[in-house]
Amino acid sequence: MRRACLSTRSCNSLLKHTDKFDFQRFQHSGYQSLPDVHHAKSVKDGSLQQLKVGRYVVNLYMKSRNLEYAHKLFGEMPDRDVRSWTVLISGFARTGACRMVLELFKEMLAERVCPNQFTLSSVLKSCSGLSDFGMGKGVHGWILRNGIELDVVLQNSMLDVYVKCGALDHAERLFATMKERNTVTWNIMMGAYMHIGDMEKALELFKRLPSKDGASWNTIMYGLMQNGDERCALQLLYEMVGNGVPFQNVTFSVALGLASSLYAAELGRQIHGSLVTLGIENDGYLRTSLIDMYCKCGRMDKASLIFRKMPLGAKSKFTSDEVKTEIILWSTMVSGYVRNGEHECALITFRSMLREQIMVDQFSVTSVVSSCANIGSLLLGQNIHALVQKIGYKLDVHLASCYIDMYAKCGSLSDAWMIFKQTFHPDVVLWTSMISACAVHGQGKEAVRLFELMLREGIKPNEVTFVVVLNACSHAGLIKEGCNYFSLMKEVYGIKPGTEHFTCMVDLYGRAGRLDESKQFIHENDISHLSSVWKSFLSACRLHTNLELGNWVSEKLLQLEPSDGPYVLMSNMCAANHRWQEAAEMRISMQKRGINKVPGQSWIQLKNEVHSFVMGDRSHPHSTKIYSYLDELIAKLKAIGYSMDTKLVMQDVEEEQGEAILGHHSEKLALAYGIISSASGIPIRIMKNLRVCGDCHNFIKFTSQLLDREFIVRDLHRFHHFKHGSCSCGDYW
Ligand code: ZN
Ligand code: ZN
Repeated sequence: MRRACLSTRSCNSLLKHTDKFDFQRFQHSGYQSLPDVHHAKSVKDGSLQQLKVGRYVVNLYMKSRNLEYAHKLFGEMPDRDVRSWTVLISGFARTGACRMVLELFKEMLAERVCPNQFTLSSVLKSCSGLSDFGMGKGVHGWILRNGIELDVVLQNSMLDVYVKCGALDHAERLFATMKERNTVTWNIMMGAYMHIGDMEKALELFKRLPSKDGASWNTIMYGLMQNGDERCALQLLYEMVGNGVPFQNVTFSVALGLASSLYAAELGRQIHGSLVTLGIENDGYLRTSLIDMYCKCGRMDKASLIFRKMPLGAKSKFTSDEVKTEIILWSTMVSGYVRNGEHECALITFRSMLREQIMVDQFSVTSVVSSCANIGSLLLGQNIHALVQKIGYKLDVHLASCYIDMYAKCGSLSDAWMIFKQTFHPDVVLWTSMISACAVHGQGKEAVRLFELMLREGIKPNEVTFVVVLNACSHAGLIKEGCNYFSLMKEVYGIKPGTEHFTCMVDLYGRAGRLDESKQFIHENDISHLSSVWKSFLSACRLHTNLELGNWVSEKLLQLEPSDGPYVLMSNMCAANHRWQEAAEMRISMQKRGINKVPGQSWIQLKNEVHSFVMGDRSHPHSTKIYSYLDELIAKLKAIGYSMDTKLVMQDVEEEQGEAILGHHSEKLALAYGIISSASGIPIRIMKNLRVCGDCHNFIKFTSQLLDREFIVRDLHRFHHFKHGSCSCGDYW
């Protein structure tokens, strides 16, 4: 059979056949594959020289994505008509080789071959792809000059070029002169207005649109959602239902997105119901939207239920789109757990992701790194870091900031430094992460030095940087520096101080015991309406046991917000001063309002297991051993000068009993367990969810001296590195 004699029908069936062809295999197998066989044959019988056959073979190579070869072959063709040019140009356009398309188009015009609608459509798409306004406008002018008729499809392409190039005035002019407009035309224009955030104009167009199809509704609702006007989008959704416009999959996805951003779990549940009724809840894209919705509404139970029902198997047959959907699905689950504070589940899911050989995307990597940070497990963090390196992710500033934060929170400042030093061109976020890392490790002076260095490098600090720096100054007692930076922020960088900056400043004075200056600062800055400021003040009153001022502040706070904070602080303060009656009243009043004190909890990771303890906990399998060792240890510590600070017992009990409770604070239990279960000499790391109490702080200092061992305790606010009987915080925390 001669190739030149192929009828259109057999051509088509052959092309269909080539579509299904395994091109990757063909590219590695030399000349055994389909286009090459045809090529060889047509070269042999001389038919390649014929225009039609040449074009056909070029098309085959184009379809098999062997662009280079197709281009070469095209160059050898003696005759090239508009259809051959179009085969080549549209082939390159399909692969997104926009520059090539424009080059070929110029060559084609130079050969005086007149383009057809298909050629122009590919060329315009490439102009859009490159946002090449000059070229787009040039093509438009050429079309007009040559009197080529622009149908609505081409005009839409032209419109798209102007919109993508941000030439809205040109787009508006073209839109106004268009005799024929279809829904695509309107959707492009609506999209253009939405892109610049002009929702008013977009909505106006939407209302003018004569026949609204599903895509128009989806476009406008999505745009409203992106621009933060979820309420209006929801209204339109109800209108759409009212008008009986059938939902497309995208509509469901937009509706689920609305439910997520409005935290409207009930709406989400209803949409879920419709999906089940329609039998499309298993569509990959919709399933992701469903899971995302439940994650954002805090319903991880529902999300994991849908996730687990995922049809397994046949993965080898997944198309590339299905593979992408699956990756997104997994990373949605991982970040959902992180968002809801279920860090262990996040890590378990991440591990399964690796086991199932799902490609790990940047999103799940950053999520899981932040989980490690929250759990505070250095070993886990290092493992994840090594793994990500193995996968081959480049260390960009974003990932680097995540690592710095993670290492800092896991207690390894040296690892954080290592990451910081490895990063090229650190941006303000990265600098801020490193400054913060120093600050939480009690290296206030180092944090300030880094901040100064950052300014010298010409990096402009942002609001967060100032929160971090002011915090560092406050914890390190650097009052003068703190005040300087506060005015630097306002006067040089023009940043209006927010609640957090004010709170840091009140904390700065308060911690140092300058309660009057704290009060004055609140007065001068007119911030007495901010409860966080008073909370910070109250902590300072407690730290410096100023009961009178504490009472006054507590009253202020009660008026502002009847929440748990002031109650807990006040009740602790009363207790510390042996005013049990008041403390008890305060606690009763808390219980009446349904406010519960967060129980103190400490945890320690040994090998791959996390052991957590609460005060007086006897649930641990080794609790008898732990308690007897603890008693033994306390006795030894007392012999070298440690005495229990019973003033800090927060309950109304007799002295002796008080000692027992104090002796069984969760951090002491975790520490004792750590000592008896690990080899001597290894530093022990403990996490605590509340601020470490004065007695425990003292206890750990003495233990580090007695056992000549290093202890690292991360409490709610900072790290304490205990060594040779002293702590890195300098007893100021
Ligand atoms: Zn304690
Ligand atoms: Zn300390």
